[in-house]
Amino acid sequence: MEGDGIQVERRDEIASLNSSADEVSHLALDIGGTLIKMVYFSSNSDWPVDDEGKRSSKEKGSKNCNFVNGRLHFMKFETRKINDCLQFISSKQLHHYGTYRFATGGGAFKFADLFKEKLEISLDKVEEMDSLVAGANFLLKAVDREAFTYMDGEKEYLQIDHNDLYPYLLVNIGSGVSMIKVDGDGVYERVSGTSIGGGTFWGLGNLLTKCKSFDELLELSHQGNNRVIDMLVGDIYGGMDYSKIGLSSTAIASSFGKAISENKEIEDYRPEDVARSLLRMISNNIGQISYLNALRFGLKRIFFGGFFIRGHAYTMDTIAVAVNFWSKGEAKAMFLRHEGFLGAMGAFMSYPNNGLDHLMSKQLVEQLPKSACCPKHEARSPLLGDLTENGSIEC
Ligand code: ADP
Repeated sequence: MEGDGIQVERRDEIASLNSSADEVSHLALDIGGTLIKMVYFSSNSDWPVDDEGKRSSKEKGSKNCNFVNGRLHFMKFETRKINDCLQFISSKQLHHYGTYRFATGGGAFKFADLFKEKLEISLDKVEEMDSLVAGANFLLKAVDREAFTYMDGEKEYLQIDHNDLYPYLLVNIGSGVSMIKVDGDGVYERVSGTSIGGGTFWGLGNLLTKCKSFDELLELSHQGNNRVIDMLVGDIYGGMDYSKIGLSSTAIASSFGKAISENKEIEDYRPEDVARSLLRMISNNIGQISYLNALRFGLKRIFFGGFFIRGHAYTMDTIAVAVNFWSKGEAKAMFLRHEGFLGAMGAFMSYPNNGLDHLMSKQLVEQLPKSACCPKHEARSPLLGDLTENGSIEC
């Protein structure tokens, strides 16, 4: 992936940054059950220095730091391979920089001793929900084309009116799912959640299909047909709709329901079809529960984040259709391009005098990889493969 003067190379989950012109600094982590998300800042050493010879965008070791004239970088690692993350931090000397290292998520507690032992740093813990909400609000306000709707293979970017953002429901689909009613900056309530989330898809999918990676499982689901395993209304009604209550013959009556009636073993099914049914079951369920919570509080807008979505067309389509179906078109599912980085971004904003609030009144420029810069139909491919991966935004 290329930025201005910066090259971020990715080999599996280990990334390296090669650029003599850039100085890397300031670190925030969101250490989740499955993935570690990292945000860090780099300033370009070609930028002008002030009278004291300091670069305008940062002061080494200072508590005061203004993140302008530089780039925010987004990286992720698997939590079970936390050593890759430690190695990356060490190779970029991020642990030597400044006074703070902000970390959120359960892993900020769980791995505190490991960071101390391996990098000799203490993690400054930031509350997880505070971080999620702060990150979502910042990205929605500051980053151009952050939010979009997705329906029938069509992606449409939204212009967010800063004065008309609240209230909204934030649904973060990580390993588990949190549903948060957001009423303003720092004003929120976690109103619901479900344990049937991304970890369920990855965990069950792994058991049922023997897939080695999450992306492989997603790719399989893209090629599968859920009708092979799901029991449809038409299977019960002899191919007909149940029109009296508005159910078409193709509506799913029971996820995985056919597996019993056909008396088959798991080996009799194609992994593609299993993956598809699983993805559909979980996405549908989350879409429905989200809508019900939006309804509880009269919220019309639902933003979905978390790395489960992965910019995957079928996942977004299923969630959007569920929200549309249950709300009879009243509520809209909206997705975020930095979906999995909300918490890490929020933790990053804990740097005092970070100047990022100021950026909310402007729109940041996003460094999109070449594959990600087409407008409406880009989400037709199973994986968008842009900001769901590592990336950066210019400040
Ligand atoms: P958490 O903070 O709980 O780790 P995330 O927002 O990082 O939550 O999302 C984790 C979920 O993202 C996983 O449960 C899985 O469904 C999905 N996911 C996306 N990419 C990957 C990946 N490369 N490896 C594992 N899970 C992934």
